[in-house]
Order: sequence, then structure tokens, then C-alpha cells
Amino acid sequence: MYKLSKPNICEDEINAVADVLRSGNLVYGAKGREFESALERFTGSGSSRVVSSGTAALYIALKSLGIGEGDAVIVPGFTFPATVNAVIVCGAVPIICDVDPLTYCIDPVLIRQAIDSWQGQEKIKAVLPVHEFGYPADMLKILDIASEHNLFVVEDAACAIGSTLNGQHLGTFGDIGCFSFHPRKMLTTGEGGAVVSGNTDLVAKIEEFRNHGMTFQSGIASFERPALNFRLSDIQSAMGVVQLGKISQAIKSRSKLASRYNDLLGDEALLSLPSSIDGQNWQTFMVVLDDSLDRPTIISHLRESGIETNLGAQSIVRMPSFEPYVLGNTETPISDRLYFQGLALPLTEQYGVQDIDLIATKLLTVLNSA
Ligand SMILES: *Cc1c(COP(=O)(O)O)cnc(C)c1O
Repeated sequence: MYKLSKPNICEDEINAVADVLRSGNLVYGAKGREFESALERFTGSGSSRVVSSGTAALYIALKSLGIGEGDAVIVPGFTFPATVNAVIVCGAVPIICDVDPLTYCIDPVLIRQAIDSWQGQEKIKAVLPVHEFGYPADMLKILDIASEHNLFVVEDAACAIGSTLNGQHLGTFGDIGCFSFHPRKMLTTGEGGAVVSGNTDLVAKIEEFRNHGMTFQSGIASFERPALNFRLSDIQSAMGVVQLGKISQAIKSRSKLASRYNDLLGDEALLSLPSSIDGQNWQTFMVVLDDSLDRPTIISHLRESGIETNLGAQSIVRMPSFEPYVLGNTETPISDRLYFQGLALPLTEQYGVQDIDLIATKLLTVLNSA
């Protein structure tokens, strides 16, 4: 079976984990700090703090900025629901903006519209762009809008470790960046994530929200506020250090495979292909099927041929469970189309060009016989 993705775990990760197990120091400690320094060097961020998941990273980011009841946060309509869950669980209201049909990322023009037309009681405090599938959101325009309206910028860079825009690592443009190390992402620690920021006051708050609301003065713990535990274990950080060392090579391999998909599928009228840009990590390769095609049929035909495909991400306003929480605009035709017709294809650096050839050829056959 060609899996959509598979974690790239070698003996190095296994040995690194075994070393931590033998050391007896399992919770966040020396390995966690080593992983954080490595992340800081790799991303060029001022500070990095590892946490238990990408969702925890988003939640901690919003809490650290003081976002809660009475506030609103602008989010894209097309994303993994964790982005919006973090806003809602903090007590704030998500304002949904549609995305660009080619990059799948939030459309800055619609951010402006959402701000201008907002009639709710809640005060808009932040914009939370998602670098969907590792593709950079239009950060320069988003930062302009944010500074005009005095908004915080939190980047959901869950998919974007290793991705850059104009040479700058994603997650380092705004006030806070959030990464995920779920096995579906480019770097995995099983579960895990990281928060990055260049603002030392924010980093102090991030540390508190990660660790029971604690601060330390001369080694003495003081509980500053009620907060939860979102630490990453050193068992996981040991994996992260090894994985980070392999990521640049992985991205090179993936971009070669992505261009192969583009070459083979580019002329097919029944598909539209994702945007390519230098610096993206190709975490996911999602095509969009023509409206005439029934996606479940395509997915099941491909599965019969040993190829796993799936939807890419969700349209938030099309999910009934979010209905009570979403105020303002709920017209997001592009997000809807990506949700219903998007098809994520298998892509991992562990595949070769001949695997991509086989998958693409099969996909073309299935499309044209559907
Ligand atoms: C994966 C993902 C998350 C959640 O990360 P977890 O580590 O699974 O909690 C959040 N946002 C986006 C865009 C994601 O792709």
C-alpha cells in the first residue's frame, strides 16, 4: 500500500530514545533544552519552547497574548480544526476568512474585509494565518494589515517546519509561531510541538502556560496562575534532535517528487495542482478534483490499486459542531471546494520517482474512467 505519509524513523532515533530511557531522566530536561536550541538555530527564531502538541502550542500562544473572552481572532476557513479549536477553547470568537484557491492559505484581501465589516461586540485582537501544507501564507501583507489595526499575529506553522519565505523561516514573522511534530508532519516526536517567539516577555508567559503556571526565582518555584501541563518529554525531544538533522535532505527529496507530480499531472484538465514556491517543505501534496468527479469513488478506486489518498483539510463553516461558535461571515466557497474536492496524494521522502510515476499514472487512469 502506498501510504499518504509515513514517519521516517531510523536506528538513530531508536538509539537516542534508548539513551534517554537508560538515563532515568524522562521528563522535560537537558534533551528538551538541546532540542530547543537546535530549533532556534534551524528556524532563526529568538526563542523556542517545546510542548506536547501543535494544538498545545496554539493554545499556549493565544493564552500568552492574553486572548480570551470578549476577543475575536481571524482564522482561515480551510485548515485542520485544531486551529479554530484553540481560539474557541481560549474563550475567544473565531472570525473565518476564505482562502486563496492556489495556495490554500488565508486571503489578505478578505482579512481586510472581515475587519471592516465586523459588527460583533468582541474586539479583534489577532490574526492567525495557517501555512497550509507547509505553503507560506502571504505574511508581508498580513503583517501590514496587523500593524495597521494593532493586531497580534500568531502563525499556525504546524505543517511548516523547514519552510521559508524569502529565506526567512515560517513561524518567525509574527509575534508567535506554532509547530507540530505529529507523525503526519515533516519532523516527528510521536506527538509534540513547539512555540517560537522573539519577544522575551512573551516567552516567559509561554513557559508559565507550558508548565503549571510556574516561575522560578533562584530555583524556588512559584505558582503565578492556574495553568496546565503541556511539557514535551525528553524521550520525545531525543527523537526531535535526530529528526531535525535530517529535515533539509527530506525537503530536497520531497520537492523533487512534487515536481514529478507536477510534470505528470499538469496537463490533466480534471485536476488543479497546488502552487509551487521556492522554500516550501511539501508537507502535503493536495490536488483539487474537477466538480464533475465524485471524490469517494476516486478514493476507493485508488485504494483498490494500493494507493492511499484522503481529503486534505476541513472547511470550518461546513462542520456543524462549529456553527454555534462562528459569528460573522460564513460564506467560504473556496474553502468549501477544497474541503469537498481536495485530494491529498502519497508523498514522503522515502518514495522514489518511480513510485510517484506509478501513483500518478494510476490516478490519471482512475480519473478518466470515473
Ligand atoms: C497538525 C495540525 C495542527 C495540530 O497539531 P497536533 O500536533 O496534531 O496537535 C494544527 N494546525 C494545523 C494546520 C495542522 O496541520
